[in-house]
Amino acid sequence: MIVKTTTLSVKTESRETFKDVTASIRKFVQKSNVQNGQVTLFVPHTTAAVTINENADPDVVTDLLFSLKKSFPDRKEFRHMEGNSDAHIKSSTIGASETVIVEDGSLKLGTWQGLYFCEFDGPRTRKLFVQVIGE
Ligand code: ZN
Repeated sequence: MIVKTTTLSVKTESRETFKDVTASIRKFVQKSNVQNGQVTLFVPHTTAAVTINENADPDVVTDLLFSLKKSFPDRKEFRHMEGNSDAHIKSSTIGASETVIVEDGSLKLGTWQGLYFCEFDGPRTRKLFVQVIGE
């Protein structure tokens, strides 16, 4: 059984953005020598998230960000003193982790799927915990 853990640094350039981290995760899995198992991505932040979605047409990410902004606008009724409640809500809605199957040393993703770090209160330098487990 192999277990390898790393922390990726993700630099975000705007308040809300999705960063495609698929290539970094693929590289980490290949270096680990795990052939069959799974890789977990975990975001240790309360105003960021991780998700899987299309990485062929960049307009999909644009539409996701637009829809999240429309669905969870900043509201004067919010009480959180930091003033970033909308970011906390988006973080919980999208979620802090994803798991992907590793088969024959590769990520078992759909043809159009990519892994995205989701920033909702940037720009910042963020952490992404990644652990691959298997044999
Ligand atoms: Zn806050």
